[in-house]
Amino acid sequence: MNRKYRKTLIAGNWKMNKTPTETKAFMTELKGLLPKGRWCDIALCVPAVCIPAAVRAMRETRVGIGAENCNPNPSGAYTGEVSTAMLVDAGCKYVIIGHSERRAMGETDEEVNAKTKAALEAGLIPIVCCGESLEQREADITEEWISMQIKLALAGISEDKIRKVVIAYEPIWAIGTGRTATPEQAEEVCQLIRTVVRKLFGSKNARATTILYGGSMNDKNAYELLAQPDIDGGLIGGASLVPSKFVKIIEDANQPTA
Ligand code: PEP
Repeated sequence: MNRKYRKTLIAGNWKMNKTPTETKAFMTELKGLLPKGRWCDIALCVPAVCIPAAVRAMRETRVGIGAENCNPNPSGAYTGEVSTAMLVDAGCKYVIIGHSERRAMGETDEEVNAKTKAALEAGLIPIVCCGESLEQREADITEEWISMQIKLALAGISEDKIRKVVIAYEPIWAIGTGRTATPEQAEEVCQLIRTVVRKLFGSKNARATTILYGGSMNDKNAYELLAQPDIDGGLIGGASLVPSKFVKIIEDANQPTA
C-alpha cells in the first residue's frame, strides 16, 4: 500500500450468498465491529436483490455498497439484467466488472470494456478484475495475459476517468481454493499492472491507481499481502461473509506504510 498516493480499499464480493434478511443481520453485526476513526475505504458488493437492504443498513456508515455485475446498455430488452443507472438509483457506489466467474460464463473483454465505460459514465467506481489460470501461469504467459486483459478493459477510457477505476488482480487458481498467491507473486503482477497503466495513462495516473489483490485473502494472510507496495487493498470473497474476519482484514489495512 502507499496511502500517500492512492486510496486503500477493502472490498467484499459476496458472490451468490446471503438473502436480503441475512444481509440485514450481517450489516448489523458488522456495524458493531467496525473500528472507529479514519480507516481505509470499505465496500461490500452484494447480490442485486440484497442491495436495498445493504444500502439501508449502512446509510450512516463509511461502508459503500456495490453490485457484482452490470449491463452496459442504458435500458431495453435485456431480460434479467440490471443497468448502471438502476444501481446508482438503488444507492450503489461500486460495481465489480469482469470477475473470472462471470468470464467463465462467457463474458468477453469487449463486454468488460463496455461495462467499465458505462459504470464510469454513471458515476460508479468499477472494480475491474483480471487474472490468469493455473495453465497460463505454468506456461509462463501471465505477463502477456494480464497486460492484454488490462489494455482491453481500459481501451478508450479518458485520462480524467482513469483514476476512478479500481483494478483487482485475482489469479483464478487462488479464488475460492484456499491457495493464496504469495505476497511476492501478488506484488509482481500488481506492479506489472501499474506499469501497463503507466504506459497507457502516464505516471501520475499510474501512481494514483488503486490495485487490489484477490484470491483466498483472509484474516490470516491479509497483513503480509497488504504490506506490498503495489497492493492497495483486497477483493475478498469467502472471508467477507464473516463479519469478524472481514473486520480483521480492514484492521490489517491500517498498518503503517512507507
Ligand atoms: C473473489 O470472489 O473475488 C475471491 C477472491 O474469492 P475468495 O476470497 O473466496 O478466494
